[in-house]
Amino acid sequence: SQWEKQVRKSAHPRSPGGLTVLVTGAAGFVGTHVSIALRRRGDGVLGLDNFNKYYDPKLKRARQGLLERSGVFVVEGDINDAVLLKKLFDVVLFTHVMHLAAQAGVRYAMQNPGSYVNSNIAGFVNLLEVSKSANPQPAVVWASSSSVYGLNTKVPFSEKDRTDHPASLYAATKKAGEGIAHTYNHIYGLSLTGLRFFTVYGPWGRPDMAYFFFTKDILKGKTITVFESPDKGSVARDFTYIDDIVKGCLGALDTAEKSTGSGGKKKGPAMFRIYNLGNTSPVPVTKLVKILEKLLKMKAKKKVMPLPRNGDVEFTHANITLAQSEIGYKPAVDLETGLKKFVKWYMGFYSKKKSSW
Ligand code: NAD
Repeated sequence: SQWEKQVRKSAHPRSPGGLTVLVTGAAGFVGTHVSIALRRRGDGVLGLDNFNKYYDPKLKRARQGLLERSGVFVVEGDINDAVLLKKLFDVVLFTHVMHLAAQAGVRYAMQNPGSYVNSNIAGFVNLLEVSKSANPQPAVVWASSSSVYGLNTKVPFSEKDRTDHPASLYAATKKAGEGIAHTYNHIYGLSLTGLRFFTVYGPWGRPDMAYFFFTKDILKGKTITVFESPDKGSVARDFTYIDDIVKGCLGALDTAEKSTGSGGKKKGPAMFRIYNLGNTSPVPVTKLVKILEKLLKMKAKKKVMPLPRNGDVEFTHANITLAQSEIGYKPAVDLETGLKKFVKWYMGFYSKKKSSW
């Protein structure tokens, strides 16, 4: 059929030895960038996304347009749909799965807790079920989150630190995902690599994140709320530029071994790894606002409030030594440079559109 042809063409590597990757959440912020980077270097990429309405669906459709122009076809469907997933694995022999589909965001859990359980737990299990039964089994790299460190106060956060005190339901589902992934590695020999992203930002970013809606509100002259913790001053984040995250994802895919299943001949167990992908330099949100004011050439109207207990943590700070030594991860973009690129994209994208969002 026409659909099968599109799927095969998109998933077919253009360069010899190229990977064949299923990217879930391909129309998302990180998914779009990772898919395009893979396609550019000659790998085969098939996208999957349910285009949910958590944020502006027009932004997701615009990313889809960009993906299609880059030769990436996005299948519209849900990771909970086992029949669809099996069909995709029947049509294409994926060497790798880059799993980025999730219910992201911390605060939305207060309105829709089920969505987190559905996508981040049930959907992930469904994807792992299909992956472990596929022949050959693909290596799975998936997005965890810095939020698993929760109320941890030992900085910088290292992979060995405690993750047993999540501050939000989002964090709890991401932590659950790590445990679930471990069982699929241990029982079925599936190769699994988890990436704990630290506050990713950049062009085509997510409208629910502070740097994005601060930009929007400063430009509109609307008052922004900056949270402060009682003892530590401004909330701080280890903001990580999207291009650095993309390099980390590609590094993880390239070093992930294809597993051969529990009955395979490969010596030793399939790999299970967890890496921090951060920037190792936390920036207070007050500083973020100052940089945005400078780039937008506008003064922000600010309201300072104590950090509410709604799931946000006070600060994040990654130790990235492990990712550095094992997957060659080396973040290179500082916050001001990265925000400059974001603002440039933002101005171009939203000046062309009259959409209300
Ligand atoms: P995003 O919301 O832009 O992308 C996720 C995509 O997955 C969306 O396009 C959405 O439509 C899709 N999706 C959601 N549920 C689905 C389902 N059940 N089936 C199919 N598609 C579904 O988010 P993002 O910022 O690109 O994040 C990518 C991944 O990285 C997520 O797993 C997120 O939890 C994780 N992460 C992101 C950040 C960050 O700062 N952006 C930080 C830590 C972790």
